[in-house]
Amino acid sequence: MTTHRLAVIPGDGIGTEVTPAAQSVLDAVAARHGFGFDYREFDWSCERYRTEGAMMPADGLDRLRDHDAILLGAVGSPGVPDHVSLWGLLIPIRRTFRQYVNLRPVRCFDGVESPLRNADVDLVVVRENIEGEYSQIGGRINSGFPDEMAVQETVFTRVGVSRIADYAFRLATTRRHRLTSATKSNGIVHTLPFWDEVVAERAQGFPDVDWDAEHIDALCAKVVLDPGRFDVIVGSNLFGDILSDLTAAVAGSIGIAPSANLNPERDFPSMFEPVHGSAPDIAGRGVANPIGAIWSAAMLLDHLGHPEAATEVVDAIAAVLSETPLRTPDLGGTATTSEFTAAIVKRVA
Ligand code: ATP
Ligand code: MG
Repeated sequence: MTTHRLAVIPGDGIGTEVTPAAQSVLDAVAARHGFGFDYREFDWSCERYRTEGAMMPADGLDRLRDHDAILLGAVGSPGVPDHVSLWGLLIPIRRTFRQYVNLRPVRCFDGVESPLRNADVDLVVVRENIEGEYSQIGGRINSGFPDEMAVQETVFTRVGVSRIADYAFRLATTRRHRLTSATKSNGIVHTLPFWDEVVAERAQGFPDVDWDAEHIDALCAKVVLDPGRFDVIVGSNLFGDILSDLTAAVAGSIGIAPSANLNPERDFPSMFEPVHGSAPDIAGRGVANPIGAIWSAAMLLDHLGHPEAATEVVDAIAAVLSETPLRTPDLGGTATTSEFTAAIVKRVA
């Protein structure tokens, strides 16, 4: 029997509630398909930061390295600045393990109301995950003086843009063969014209994909006005970040949105996590929506070579939402995390 070694980082707040939910779905579907998981749990979190002064131990990345994948809940806690959880855990993992693809599928499920009328969405945002606007290059000068300024450099490399474009085009060939590239080359005169050029070059390798480039401002408007027209949207680190929150909101609740931080070459583990944060406002009550974490686990199954099991998990989510009144409070219901999870487990077992 194949056993996958998974590193599990539940993190903070509802991360510790939705991660076990995802694991129980993984175990149930794996058992039926004749494979299994061997979990190693790490208590790396803002809680740990409070007591030990670091999100993870100094050799943390080494301890993750020899796992087949990483399942993450959420990190973040009131009083701990966001940059601590980001730069103390998430960004080192993404960069060290070359998880340069951030994949965020978005779907409107029957039974989940979108804030938009007639929204029918089935798209994937492909976000460049390790370069671009989130660089450490720049600084402040003349602090406190009237001529004070801040400079922040954006870094696009030919290798970085080519590989994210290739990934997105390849993904489009497995879907509806439509790709939109987010840009702003009319206003940003160096980096985004370069992005456009490299994307156009890579497009030549995918003649059966119908693609175009849209400026980010117009693109955001179109996502709201007519989200159904999009299939794969590829964007830089910043544009992809914004687009994935926007498209997740269009689908109805942040609690259902999944994400994968992928290392497509598979020389390091990839990481799977719901889009939502630790939600301190509802943590500890057992009412967090587990769909984002469970769907992220389905993406993990797909990545580890179990596409049928992955599809079954997503189908089970869709079926429970459309065939039963079971909903967590964020979707207007009264179900608990474990009641909703049990319904999914029953369908995939
Ligand atoms: P962080 O700083 O960790 O990102 P945050 O408060 O900025 O936390 P979220 O944790 O994503 O962002 O929470 C945003 C809102 O969405 C909160 O009101 C939270 O309760 C709600 N929310 C987020 N995830 C879920 C979920 N899985 N189920 C129900 N509600 C959720
Ligand atoms: Mg936040």
